[in-house]
Amino acid sequence: MKSANPGLSGLGTTIFEVMSLLAREHGSINLGQGFPDEDGPEDIRRLAAEAVVAGPNQYPPMPGIVELRQAITAHAKRFYDLDFDWRSEVVVTSGATEALAGCLFGLLEPGDEAVLLEPLYDSYLPIARRAGADVKLVRLEPPNWELPCEALAEAFSDRTKLILLNSPMNPAAKVFSDDELSFIAELVTRYDAYAVCDEVYEHLLFDGRPHHPLITFPGMRERCLRIGSAGKIFSLTGWKVGWVCGAAETLAPVIKAHQFLTFTTAPNLQVAVASGLGKDDAYFASISTELEGKRNRLRDGLAGIGFKMLETEGTYFISADFRPLGFNGDDVDFCRHITTEAGVTAVPLSAFYDTGDVRHFARFCFTKQDAILDEAVDKLARHFGA
Ligand code: PMP
Ligand code: GLN
Repeated sequence: MKSANPGLSGLGTTIFEVMSLLAREHGSINLGQGFPDEDGPEDIRRLAAEAVVAGPNQYPPMPGIVELRQAITAHAKRFYDLDFDWRSEVVVTSGATEALAGCLFGLLEPGDEAVLLEPLYDSYLPIARRAGADVKLVRLEPPNWELPCEALAEAFSDRTKLILLNSPMNPAAKVFSDDELSFIAELVTRYDAYAVCDEVYEHLLFDGRPHHPLITFPGMRERCLRIGSAGKIFSLTGWKVGWVCGAAETLAPVIKAHQFLTFTTAPNLQVAVASGLGKDDAYFASISTELEGKRNRLRDGLAGIGFKMLETEGTYFISADFRPLGFNGDDVDFCRHITTEAGVTAVPLSAFYDTGDVRHFARFCFTKQDAILDEAVDKLARHFGA
């Protein structure tokens, strides 16, 4: 038999699936994979259920139903004063994962260079490479995860087609500063490149930080593709409804990729998400306020056990250096160990790197009920004798 595509067959199973499976096998509290343990607003879920019964349940328009495209453009106007034409500047995708693949397949061709920042979300690298790109990795370093401007400038060249930027950033939980965003915008302009902006955590920023999409920076309107996800905004991660907004000409190849990746997304979910995006400002403010409390709860609990905690400026996640606990092993060993021995699951940060030596952090997800977070902390405290 001829061998399958080694770029994919050579990959392991994604860390989120591996750790969630292990958590299920051991009945452990799953603070690994990023998902809330309570479903989002009931009115949105009810609308989705009613739309299935009422129909139609046939193929919606390929770029998304009109209502949802209009709701996405209204959301961009309300929060960022961005004007997108719903007819030509928005496409609805099956989650941000499909949006990312569509952007990378739509923009990249073999021989192009793509600049990616480590640590990175696990789909970026395999998809960029599958799209034929020569990937230039630039690493941000803990504990502060500052943008290494000199290394970033060196990574750009005349062959750079795009940079993929994730802010707020998973798993670093970093929000890029305006100065860092301006620096990136300047490089993108200088090298006549694009920026694919993964902004799925756009409403999950803490301590009063605002989210500033790169596409709002000077010169960026034609060069950025802005990706969003209903999963994160409405605590409905299984729905896989995402979108991309961008200038019509920049978005056109992404829509071409989308038409052959999934073509469309479940119509009832689109109807429900369209309604959700129209929720009042209080809803959008409440999600970060509530989550900020959970971040503090888990951060303080883990710090009390002796973990050295990194800062979390946004996202669902907080990372902890476990070396002060005296554990003898790397981050993969640690996350397996606490799953099987303490009954709490996390994911190793090394999974977010291509290769390397960052092997002493575990990432914990705090979008869980307070009682569950407390139980997880108790279990870890008992295990480590704190
Ligand atoms: N980008 C980042 C940074 C993520 O953390 C995730 C996972 N939730 C995704 C994209 C994928 O989002 P979706 O579930 O909408 O495909
Ligand atoms: N984004 C989620 C995380 O970082 C997981 C998404 C997935 O499981 N594919 O944990």
